[in-house]
Amino acid sequence: MTATHVFSVDVEEYFHVQAFEPYIDAQTWESFPSRVDVGLDLLLDALAAGHHRGTFFVVGWLAERRPHMIRRLIDAGHEVASHGYWHRRVDVLGPHQFREDLRRSRAILEQLAGTAITGFRAPSFSINAHTPWAFEILAEEGFQYDSSVFPARRPSFGIPESAVMPYDVPSASGVIREFPLTTLRWLGARWPAAGGNYWRQLPAALVEAAVAQHEREGHSAMIYVHPWELDAGQPRLDVPGIVKLRHYRGLARMEGRIRRLLSHHRFGSIRDVHFAARAA
Ligand SMILES: [Zn+2]
Repeated sequence: MTATHVFSVDVEEYFHVQAFEPYIDAQTWESFPSRVDVGLDLLLDALAAGHHRGTFFVVGWLAERRPHMIRRLIDAGHEVASHGYWHRRVDVLGPHQFREDLRRSRAILEQLAGTAITGFRAPSFSINAHTPWAFEILAEEGFQYDSSVFPARRPSFGIPESAVMPYDVPSASGVIREFPLTTLRWLGARWPAAGGNYWRQLPAALVEAAVAQHEREGHSAMIYVHPWELDAGQPRLDVPGIVKLRHYRGLARMEGRIRRLLSHHRFGSIRDVHFAARAA
């Protein structure tokens, strides 16, 4: 049987990205023009054209200000999950603030979606070896799954020894199912190949090879993208050159890359791919 893969979207504004955090105070977010619909329109069109669905991890701050967006995702059959309220790293928040941020994001998303929110993705994949308490808090707060672990070694994220396939994390308050981000096995090592920067800046063949590798082995890949990565017309922020390079390079080619991948494989939400299959 051909595997269905997961298409996931981290729904945030261009001014929410972690690389801009030292230059943009969250209290000034309101002063930036919203651009999220530009990328979201393109993504929703591409998914609808191929009858794919996806899981959308939405920043609570953004959902609160653009409530129509959540209705639109639900009406199109997509799954809505949490990407935190303030889009802050879990390892920076610490246990107490993480719980508060998680609750706040979920309350807004549940109210707008009219359905239970059971999934979480940490901003910047910041659930790592320093945050063993994060799974416990997710379970205590009634979450069912997490998709924040990159089973690779990177400077700012990753748990290199983590399993590549979905696994259960037991805790005193219940089990959290973890859906790790996709890596490519190559030259005896594992390389991040799930999307985002790796998809936009490196040859498209990297992500395509990773999905094909999973498919050959009968496993589901976990792909992710941000709406701002398809928005070549977003305002250019006054940040250092290296940050500019990382954020703005490859924006114009991203939609084509996504459409190409969607035309070659079948994609669904985490709920469709992993939980519906289990229930059946
Ligand atoms: Zn994010």
